[in-house]
Amino acid sequence: MQPNFVDEKAINEAYAAINRVRASLKGGAPHYYIETYGCQMNEHDSEKIAGMLEQMGYIPAENKVDADFILFNTCCIREHAELKTFGNVGFIKELKVNNPALITAVCGCMMQQRQTAQRLAKRFPYVDLIFGTNELHIFPQMLETVIHGGRVFEVKDSDGEIAERLPLKRKGGFSAFVNIMYGCNNFCSYCIVPYVRGRERSRHVEDILEEVRKVVDEGFAEVMLLGQNVNSYNDNGVRFPELLRAVNDITGLRRLRFMTSHPKDLSPELVSAMAECENVCPHIHLPVQSGSNRILELMNRRYTREHYFTLLDMLRNAVRDIEITTDIIVGFPTETEQDFEDTLDLVRRARFSAAYTFAYSPREGTRAAKMDCQIEEAVKKERLARLNAVLLESVTGNNDKYLGYVGDILIEGLDTRGEPMLFGKLGNLKMVYVKGSPDMIGGSVRVKVTGTRFNSLVGEIIG
Ligand code: SF4
Repeated sequence: MQPNFVDEKAINEAYAAINRVRASLKGGAPHYYIETYGCQMNEHDSEKIAGMLEQMGYIPAENKVDADFILFNTCCIREHAELKTFGNVGFIKELKVNNPALITAVCGCMMQQRQTAQRLAKRFPYVDLIFGTNELHIFPQMLETVIHGGRVFEVKDSDGEIAERLPLKRKGGFSAFVNIMYGCNNFCSYCIVPYVRGRERSRHVEDILEEVRKVVDEGFAEVMLLGQNVNSYNDNGVRFPELLRAVNDITGLRRLRFMTSHPKDLSPELVSAMAECENVCPHIHLPVQSGSNRILELMNRRYTREHYFTLLDMLRNAVRDIEITTDIIVGFPTETEQDFEDTLDLVRRARFSAAYTFAYSPREGTRAAKMDCQIEEAVKKERLARLNAVLLESVTGNNDKYLGYVGDILIEGLDTRGEPMLFGKLGNLKMVYVKGSPDMIGGSVRVKVTGTRFNSLVGEIIG
């Protein structure tokens, strides 16, 4: 099924609203402050909202107290997210009392859950604007309504559309996010994303290439291609490996990354593309979630641990110096001690370079939340601690192989917590600390690794 694209007329209407707001500000430059929770998708959505605000004439505020417009871009993946968001929104009441002209807004995945959005609207009547994940392209019109005294609640149930040509204000730094697709069709039984981000829809290849060319022209060294499951990218038959090759060929691009890959869709073609494209970084984030086949089935992940190990072998055999990171959930409903031991065993053998580990927490509306035999919190906590201990051992042991290794790092900054050290990452995401001068930040240097730390390396510049 082809995705729906927001039509030219609607995009032009958004620009018309931007211009009207800009004119109404009469040269004034109100301040905006955006607080973003959650994943890179949300970060990137915030960049789009910041882009629209800056075209209207808004400028960034250092903090909430100085802002004329405050937006919370919310996430609902983690437990207690609602509590935290409601707490933060409660805090701005005082700011609103001191500055009645302050405009407050809440958007993002949590607001796409209609009942939660309604609860928030009722509890915090001073929130002027609430919208979900499908309304970014009408943000200028919604803000305009609020500026004229209205209150807006806009949460559409839809599979989502793709809006091109909206303004964008990138956060800066070395890496630029470029969305290649939105939504997810996988319905892992614990995950809320398909419900709040809609079905999978891929951007057109040409739109992606044009954006990457622009990003490279703006001086970004690295591009991160984003999607909930980039491996199922499909633009009229052009799949992710072909897209990756096309982006890799863009002149001036130095490093190319992508995120996230679902193991069930990781193809030999993608592994070949990674191996053959010189700018594609030798790193993959491949969430395994559990080492137990029984739990993987209950999670609806549609692969087995055996298949996962086959993928690790395929990647390591083909892509030189590749490092693999992952996500793991412990305490999924019905998880037995044996299931958990299977996860520990997988971690010991998989040689991950890092992992995000979580204790399972039910998300309202998902299948896993309704399963019998939820695991007690104390058991989850104890398993998480054991998992992290095994991971620590494995990650630290994995670092030893880097002693004497020579590679290039892109210098990102200066760490002044002890003796000042520059830091930057190898292509495979391993962080290396070296001595050097701050004017080297932003450049690439060749380093030799001379030592290891808990989850990073120490080296010296050799060229
Ligand atoms: S692949 Fe699974 S975990 Fe990832 S976003 Fe889709 S449903 Fe959620």
